[in-house]
Amino acid sequence: MSKEKLVLIGNGMAGVRTLEELLKLAPEMYDITVFGAEPHPNYNRIMLSPVLAGEKTVDDIVLNDLDWYARNGITLKTGDAVSRIDRIGRKVITASGEEQPYDRLLIATGSNPFIIPVPGHDKEGVIGFRDIADVDAMLAAARQYKKAVVIGGGLLGLEAANGLMKNGMDVTVVHLMDTLMERQLDKPAASLLKASLEERGMQFLMEAQTTEILGDERVTGVRFADAAQGGANAAGGRMPGAAGSQVEADLVVMAVGIRPNMVLAQDAGIHCERGIVVNDTMQTFDPRVYSVGECVQHRGTCYGLVAPLFEQAKVAANHLAQLGISRYEGSVTSTKLKVTGIDLFSAGDFNESEGDETLVLQDPGAGVYKKLVIRDNRIKGAVMYGDTIDGTWYFQLLREGTDISAFRSSILFGQHDLGDAGHGDEHRVAALGNDAEICGCNGVCKGDIVDAIVKKGLFTLEDVRAHTKASSSCGSCTGLVESILASTVGEGYSAAPSKKPMCGCTEHSHDEVIAGIKEHELKDMSAVRSFFDWKNADGCAACRPALNYYLLANWPGEYHDDAQSRFINERAHGNIQKDGTYSVVPRMFGGLCTPSDLRAIADACEKYDVPEMKVTGGQRIDLFGVKKEDLPAMWADLSKAGLVSGHAYGKALRTVKTCAGKTWCRFGTQNSTGLGVKLEQMTWGSWMPHKFKLAVSGCPRNCAEATIKDFGVVCVDSGYELHVGGNGGIKVRVTDLLCKVETEEEVLEYCAAFTQKYREEARYLERTAPWVERVGLQYIKDALFDEATRKALAERFAYSQKFAQIDPWKERAEGAEAHEFHKIEISAA
Ligand SMILES: Cc1cc2nc3c(=O)[nH]c(=O)nc-3n(C[C@H](O)[C@H](O)[C@H](O)COP(=O)(O)OP(=O)(O)OC[C@H]3O[C@@H](n4cnc5c(N)ncnc54)[C@H](O)[C@@H]3O)c2cc1C
Repeated sequence: MSKEKLVLIGNGMAGVRTLEELLKLAPEMYDITVFGAEPHPNYNRIMLSPVLAGEKTVDDIVLNDLDWYARNGITLKTGDAVSRIDRIGRKVITASGEEQPYDRLLIATGSNPFIIPVPGHDKEGVIGFRDIADVDAMLAAARQYKKAVVIGGGLLGLEAANGLMKNGMDVTVVHLMDTLMERQLDKPAASLLKASLEERGMQFLMEAQTTEILGDERVTGVRFADAAQGGANAAGGRMPGAAGSQVEADLVVMAVGIRPNMVLAQDAGIHCERGIVVNDTMQTFDPRVYSVGECVQHRGTCYGLVAPLFEQAKVAANHLAQLGISRYEGSVTSTKLKVTGIDLFSAGDFNESEGDETLVLQDPGAGVYKKLVIRDNRIKGAVMYGDTIDGTWYFQLLREGTDISAFRSSILFGQHDLGDAGHGDEHRVAALGNDAEICGCNGVCKGDIVDAIVKKGLFTLEDVRAHTKASSSCGSCTGLVESILASTVGEGYSAAPSKKPMCGCTEHSHDEVIAGIKEHELKDMSAVRSFFDWKNADGCAACRPALNYYLLANWPGEYHDDAQSRFINERAHGNIQKDGTYSVVPRMFGGLCTPSDLRAIADACEKYDVPEMKVTGGQRIDLFGVKKEDLPAMWADLSKAGLVSGHAYGKALRTVKTCAGKTWCRFGTQNSTGLGVKLEQMTWGSWMPHKFKLAVSGCPRNCAEATIKDFGVVCVDSGYELHVGGNGGIKVRVTDLLCKVETEEEVLEYCAAFTQKYREEARYLERTAPWVERVGLQYIKDALFDEATRKALAERFAYSQKFAQIDPWKERAEGAEAHEFHKIEISAA
């Protein structure tokens, strides 16, 4: 029996996604023919912005190549638009005259950019931003001309402007309203965005209404509605003119909105309003004709983002496969801007109306703004700028209508305890439900990613991209996908062999950047970014802390720490907790303390109303519930008493755990507590790629658990066993035995040398356990067993400790008491 014929008009994102879903459900059901007006196979339209910005090529963004059509028995006709649908004859007719009969028809013709019909709108050099041809036209103009005007300060306009700027053009964005992206952002977030774009050189003319495109054949300028006094905005080069102010332009990109492309359906007598009207099964008024994508109007709404279209595609495929069980009920949408280095997220209805409540977190210094609009303890809308990692979580709460009263007071601080940022993002994703959408561009949920990782044994980001498509489009969910990988397969995932760029700002890996910093003597962040041709002049939240660390580790005394490139915990010397308060942990060297230490801690707790004190596993006391504004004064009081930070939050030396040792213990073989104090005095204050823990056990009973530490010492009668690369975290790793030495001096030297090798060579956020596995124990032994190399490493460590984050190495080397040099500089910023 011959198969039914399915014809798809429109080889774009929604139509082909429907075919992909259909092939999963009923691969043999139809003979499929696809007509595409563009001469390309199916590509990812949303990635046109990175193509324009030079961050991707057209080949990179092809979603399904010609092979895919052939493999699935699909006939593809490109470059031949359908010009008519004959519903009586059940066939489509193309511009070239070809006829194709159908049993079912799927219309997915997308939309057209709206071109404002002002005089001159049809001049050469006036274009929209919709397809590869538009990108080619913009790139060609950028090679030949200098001045571009983008009309429209929405998502598309700003992405176009950014791309043109990256191609060397002077770009002015003209916007009718006083707020950029006003459909996605409120005023505070929009002004942060505008300031950041202005810093990069983008110019703006706000509240400007275009009245005319000037020029003969080709555009030469744009005129506005204001009168002869002209525009005040000199930055945009707006000149007064008789009929209104004007700016020069060699290229005008109109990005002022889209209109559903429904002309074929309309001509065929299918009911249309603002778009092609469909019901909840994505059928038009003709039950043989389905429609998906930007061309449709569902329950009165037309969508312009891919996530809802992918939901529509699933439902349409389900009905085409005659399973008939799903319904499309509309979507809530979220938006991100694809300008490298700008983190922006918006979802739902963020304009508060009567009865709504608003939660706002604003940290201008850090460039962070978060706003949640709440009604009846449920999130209605969210706007985030600067720190958007919790956007997915807020969006999930919004979509599921979750009652947030139980965690409302801390919701703006995110879903986890930032204190242990190495695991923090994993905690965030661990708490997300399986149906939480991770990749909005490709409609991939957390459950799909976890499933693929587990069932297909995936270990790298590239594998996940290839199997699920998550993070393969705009890339803004890459951090989340990596966290899912880390929490599903453990920290070992990064040991995958393929080259992984440091972040979206560069193609270069951590190792290449570290090598470049050393070899080419790059001594500040801008030198690194310019040497490696960073895509974003300012870097991003992922690369800034890493670069800051690499520079500190490689150029002690020459490079100065950039506090703004640190996480809030490291800036405030406190560990932010889920309710937004901080915990404070004074250091206790080797676990020792004195009555006066305890008295000072008790006094501070009473003075600052600390609600809870807890003895930690790292042998010190955690003071919970400290208010951010009390941190400076509390630390001032503690440091007067000689107490310093235990860095319980930092990528730094944390604790040196000890047991009682031979002074008190019947089994003790050496002075483990005393050695622990010496080790901690030697190493504290040093920044590390990740947290770093030590322990000294006085005998092989190993009460201090030295064999799951980064550097562990097990004392024996004849000396000291040195162990490295242990980890007691999510994935427990027992240490490797490095060697045995006879004296405390040797322990200190090996510890300094090992620590320095790790500091100089490991990747930022790589603990010693994966580092040792990656480089191999023998490699470390080779370096440390060579006396000259070991001594040189230890000396470099000692030198860098002169510039350690709190106290000078020199004073300790001279044998000063630990408490004498406990100065601490903190900020509540
Ligand atoms: C530059 C840019 C950036 C974007 N960024 C984002 C983003 O970050 N996030 C997001 O969610 N969305 C984004 N979008 C929107 C997103 O790309 C669209 O929502 C999505 O592509 C719509 O899919 P569609 O299949 O309905 O239409 P399209 O992908 O446009 O596909 C329609 C296809 O039908 C073809 N066609 C039309 N008429 C005919 C005919 N008569 N015969 C044959 N073929 C025909 C068209 O040529 C086109 O190829 C962006 C869009 C652009 C242009």
